[in-house]
Amino acid sequence: MPDAAVAARASEATSDNTVQQVDIAVVGAGFAGLYLLHRLRKAGFTTVVLDEAGDVGGTWYWNRYPGARCDIQTIDYSYTFDPELESAWKWSEKYATQPEILRYLGFVADRYDLRRDIRFGTRVKAATWDQAAERWRLTIDRGAGISCRHYIMATGCLSTPKPPEIDGVNDFKGEIYFTGRWPHEEVKLAGKRVAVIGTGSSGIQAIPLIAEQAAHLTVFQRTPNFALPAHNGPAPADRVALLESDRAGYREQARWSLAGVPWPQNTVFSWQLSDAERRERFEKAWATGDLVCILTQLWADQGGDPDGNALVAELIREKIRATVKDPEAAAALSPYDHPFGAKRPCLDTNYYATYNRANVTLVNLRQEPIKSITATGITTDRRSFDLDVIVFATGFDAMTGAIMAVHPITGRGGKSLSAVWANGPQTYLGLAVSGFPNLFMITGPGSPSVLSNMIVSIEQHVDWIVDRLAAMRETGFTTIEATETAQAGWERHMADCSMLTLHRLANTWYTGANVPGKARGVMPYTGGVGPYRAICNEVVGRGMLGFRLTGPDGRQQCNDGEIVRLQPDVRLVLNMLAEMKLPPIETMGAAGARAFVAQFNAARPAGRPVGDVVDGTLPGTDGLLPYRLYRPATPGPHPIVVYFHGGGWVLGDEQSDDPFCRDLCRRSGMIFVSVGYRHAPEHRFPTAAEDGYAATRWIAQHAAELGGRPGPVLVAGWSAGGNIAAVTCQLARDRGGPEIAGQLLVCPVTDATFDRSSYNENAEGYFLTRSLMYWFWDLYCSPADRTDPRCSPLRGKLQGLPPAFVVTAEFDPLRDEGIAYAEALGAAGVPVEQLMARGHFHSSFTMVDVVITGVSGRARMAEALRRFAGLPQTMGPCGEDVRRDRNAPPPAVNAAAE
Ligand SMILES: Cc1cc2nc3c(=O)[nH]c(=O)nc-3n(C[C@H](O)[C@H](O)[C@H](O)COP(=O)(O)OP(=O)(O)OC[C@H]3O[C@@H](n4cnc5c(N)ncnc54)[C@H](O)[C@@H]3O)c2cc1C
Repeated sequence: MPDAAVAARASEATSDNTVQQVDIAVVGAGFAGLYLLHRLRKAGFTTVVLDEAGDVGGTWYWNRYPGARCDIQTIDYSYTFDPELESAWKWSEKYATQPEILRYLGFVADRYDLRRDIRFGTRVKAATWDQAAERWRLTIDRGAGISCRHYIMATGCLSTPKPPEIDGVNDFKGEIYFTGRWPHEEVKLAGKRVAVIGTGSSGIQAIPLIAEQAAHLTVFQRTPNFALPAHNGPAPADRVALLESDRAGYREQARWSLAGVPWPQNTVFSWQLSDAERRERFEKAWATGDLVCILTQLWADQGGDPDGNALVAELIREKIRATVKDPEAAAALSPYDHPFGAKRPCLDTNYYATYNRANVTLVNLRQEPIKSITATGITTDRRSFDLDVIVFATGFDAMTGAIMAVHPITGRGGKSLSAVWANGPQTYLGLAVSGFPNLFMITGPGSPSVLSNMIVSIEQHVDWIVDRLAAMRETGFTTIEATETAQAGWERHMADCSMLTLHRLANTWYTGANVPGKARGVMPYTGGVGPYRAICNEVVGRGMLGFRLTGPDGRQQCNDGEIVRLQPDVRLVLNMLAEMKLPPIETMGAAGARAFVAQFNAARPAGRPVGDVVDGTLPGTDGLLPYRLYRPATPGPHPIVVYFHGGGWVLGDEQSDDPFCRDLCRRSGMIFVSVGYRHAPEHRFPTAAEDGYAATRWIAQHAAELGGRPGPVLVAGWSAGGNIAAVTCQLARDRGGPEIAGQLLVCPVTDATFDRSSYNENAEGYFLTRSLMYWFWDLYCSPADRTDPRCSPLRGKLQGLPPAFVVTAEFDPLRDEGIAYAEALGAAGVPVEQLMARGHFHSSFTMVDVVITGVSGRARMAEALRRFAGLPQTMGPCGEDVRRDRNAPPPAVNAAAE
């Protein structure tokens, strides 16, 4: 729209002193606001859109700096709601420039005749909920304001530039520009001495182009970022072919993917690949020039595991060193302070090579901080730079900045949103806030937003909201508000999800760390676009769970509760199992169940490498028993843990908990000997218990031969294996040894009693069911024997047992008997620690590298074992190995930097 028309429209609004009455007011006319307007109109709602900008575009209206482009391929970074729109527009490049994206949004606005309901040049200053009228009143900077039933903030995650935090900005006599508020007129940089402050996405895009124009460019860098070559050009033929072969299917896959772009899920782990294979994968992804590809397609552990991630990070640093000729500059440009992907990586065109130009200087603010900006330039604590132009590429007050800038937003009972969010944003689904009825946010904090292809996330939010509003209208409800319970539950779920990725380990705009004084915490939802969509759909399917709806005459509907109580990855595993529609294991017969378990185990991620794995046999009570020994890579001799696998005394073998044994071996630095005790129904009670005890005695006697530390051993076990471990401790106490230094019981069977609450609550679900437990017990032990402490250790004498670490899972039939055992041990004077794992199921901890949220629990188990064995603590609170600093730069580079 021409500026004159905008001015006329704005002055019309100013002269209009009547409050505009609409069903819905939308703030923001970017991708989100435009699609909202289109959908709301089609649904028959009267709507006004307000935007401070002079035209449509949002991000793409404001960010006009040289080099501004999207970094998700444009075939993905486009609306998908209308197939005709898709065929009516052709992108010219793999990553479109800002002018082209802005033209696209203008084209969309024209096609659906959107501008007639948009008030440009209009800033929303404050918003107040009028409880009596059940309407929002918006205060704007022009005109009398807006009264609306629903207020939707499509204000953008990256729309409030962060003010510079440097003294003297106003003293500078030269030109000042902000990448996020770049002028509409051409900015002439030729022949000028230019400074760019900031090396985030905008800086990295702008620097190569500014360097080509300026007489001299000085880049002031506080934190180096990972940047990857975009290899821009025409849209890649393979991706286009994929899209065109089945457009609807491609778009649907994107909607259910993790990041909003359809790439397959990676199932190969870094430790399954040789150095050469990893390098080959990396080079291929590097050549692809695609952020989502390099963030997800290298190996499965790159995004969630510090070790897997460090391998990628180092390969990128190698590229930086190979490109930047000056070793000091290369060192300064190499990020060591955050895992790759924990901060948004950038796509670049010639970024690193730009530092080889004679007219470019890099100033490392970590070594020489800026003291002030003066009339003539910038002074660091080492030198002064005379400048004509300063460009601030210092980023945004992300996610919450634009929402909090509308101040105050006053909800029910006079509550101010800034006060409610003083310690960080709290939302339900990133869509709504308890206490603020009829207020919605598009891509708000708590939704996948900036961790996704935002167009996919925007369309999902818009569709969800408009469908809900239409449904409310049909059912006669006039207000909708998130409940406190639902919101608190979402906050817990967000925290659980944040364990799936490494974002929590970096100081970034994702966590609010770039804005001084801002509350810290991972703001976007890290559980993925597809899982998030499923949750939003489930909220609807479960009667708008977590929302209170009201209507005239006191009508109310409130199905209160938490939408996700399981850990996010447990939920995924259980959904996957449910989709397999397996017959109940107990109907398969023992042989069939064993075959199923073998097949299931063959498909799981391979365990991680340990120093050594040795198979052998040891004498049991009646012949030889197989065992598998896992030795740490560290110098020994190590303490020995005798391990008993799970499987209800019926299933499994000495290898069946292989990934779990490897993990605990690595974490604890101890030898694990996994014993192949005999199974029911061929060998019924007390065979498993007696085999377990006999094996422990033999292992303790032969510790030195096994390469272990002579002296007391430890025992550990999961499920029925936990039962055998507990029984072994009782037998060892009563039968004169061996000496046991500690017991780790993971979701153990401790008692043949089936009326505890957890048996009923979890009877049908979560893989281990009540009827499966009945089957195990029936095959193992006749009812007459079930009070024997060798199968029900809870009924035995507990005094004088070794210290214990007892793990129970919330969604496990065995939960309460595990807790009962821990409490009884404590009452008998045995030192005992409990880990009650919230949101976990019976198999959580043994599903290593599948249930990532089990990491911190396994780290605590390993720590307990080390304590029992008298070894020093080595792990951080989240299971990170604190013995070494993965992100420390190699000494040679460090020296160069100094
Ligand atoms: C340089 C850059 C590149 C990006 N590239 C990508 C990419 O490749 N892929 C991707 O997924 N995302 C990218 N993003 C994120 C981008 O912000 C989103 O993709 C998308 O454009 C957001 O659209 P939106 O409508 O939600 O918000 P915005 O486009 O930010 O629009 C919000 C609008 O709200 C208006 N507004 C805010 N507050 C008020 C108020 N109080 N009163 C009136 N108006 C108000 C603003 O003026 C703005 O026009 C990029 C962001 C930037 C800055």
